[in-house]
Amino acid sequence: SVENVENYLEGLYKRVLERNPNEGEFHQAVELIFQSLSPVLIKNPIYIEKGILEQLVEPERVITFRVPWVDDNGKVHVNRGFRVQFNSALGPYKGGLRFHPSVNLSIVKFLGLEQIFKNSLTGQPIGGGKGGADFDPKGKSDNEIMRFCRSFMTELAKYIGPDVDIPAGDIGVGAREIGYMFGQYKKIRGTFEAGVLTGKGLNYGGSLARKEATGYGTIYFVKEMLNSANLTLQDSTVVVSGSGNVSIYAMEKALEFGANVVACSDSSGYIYDPNGINLDTVKQIKEVESGRIADYVAIHPNAEFVDDCSKIWTVPCDIALPCATQNEIDEADAKLLIANGVKAVAEGANMPSTTEAIDLFLENDILFGPAKAANAGGVAVSSLEMAQNSMRMSWTFEEVDMKLQEIMQNIYQNCVAAAEEYGYPGNLVIGSDIAGFEKVANAMIEQGV
Ligand code: GLU
Repeated sequence: SVENVENYLEGLYKRVLERNPNEGEFHQAVELIFQSLSPVLIKNPIYIEKGILEQLVEPERVITFRVPWVDDNGKVHVNRGFRVQFNSALGPYKGGLRFHPSVNLSIVKFLGLEQIFKNSLTGQPIGGGKGGADFDPKGKSDNEIMRFCRSFMTELAKYIGPDVDIPAGDIGVGAREIGYMFGQYKKIRGTFEAGVLTGKGLNYGGSLARKEATGYGTIYFVKEMLNSANLTLQDSTVVVSGSGNVSIYAMEKALEFGANVVACSDSSGYIYDPNGINLDTVKQIKEVESGRIADYVAIHPNAEFVDDCSKIWTVPCDIALPCATQNEIDEADAKLLIANGVKAVAEGANMPSTTEAIDLFLENDILFGPAKAANAGGVAVSSLEMAQNSMRMSWTFEEVDMKLQEIMQNIYQNCVAAAEEYGYPGNLVIGSDIAGFEKVANAMIEQGV
């Protein structure tokens, strides 16, 4: 019955809190998923009988390790490295590495849990994992980055492999870092295992369109959402937080579809350009110079810089795309966006909206694309990179981009169908959790305890 299922979920959530103290972000991710799953548990009690949820919230394996490295002045530093191998029901563990001072077990576990569902939604044969380190790449020299990456991989190499666990990038980890880590992995193994990492450089096994995939995918998803309400990106006003890989290519695709992108940000603040953000300038600052977004106003004096990135949601827009980091839209931000007439919100980052913010968007019938679905394009193309590596071939940009579009359309359709089937039409939060869950849960049942 409904009551039994709700008691069951409540009891299990309490146990998660007790067994994983001080893991706020992980608790939040579990709560978010549990809120979606009662309809599927009511209809399919087998998932409760088989203890699927108990297993799902406990990572298969958690690895933490010491990452010692020497800076340019000869000083020794020690960081903490993590890899959470969360669930391998659908394939080898797959998920990015985050290098950021905020990284801790809670963050890596929340990301790993979401990754299971996201990877399931892509339809690709990949399980869920995540890793990283509490290392701050900001202000580090290229040699320091290389030494850190080598030390990190020296330990991580013991636990990964093309059929075991395939890391990629996330915040603070791009093609440069993947390259240094790949070089070290190759030295340790003495074999060229192209499929052990994704997001590689194009010269040694990377996939065309991987760099663009997360941002482009988010916009393909937004297009489907808008289409369902007879809206389009053409002439819509868009605000995109962040100015990293996800944000830049979300802006690029939005611009291609005729949107007017007026604001973006980095951790130091946001820029507002009423004439529309000049993406070439943003790319030059961020991809070439690794500079701060504030530099934009020196080149475009009509634009405004505000030195508080959390205020970006004060900019009125039709479409809001949080593409920076977790919990960047809270209840007050959501209220403001709604009051200013936002029509759609899609999450390019992982868990960028708080639970309260999501509830507000849904209550107010804002089109809402949850992270697990809306940003799945990145990892989907990572899986295509693995496929190309296995075949020792590479596809053209157009081929990969076509496959990405198809995958994003399928994810959208599957989320809509699951939401509809379980009585929450249009609710993509519930739809994505259920669609992602069912595949993993059924595979777990088939493979036994
Ligand atoms: N870090 C990305 C994500 O959150 C990509 C992971 C991957 O490509 O493995 O999905």
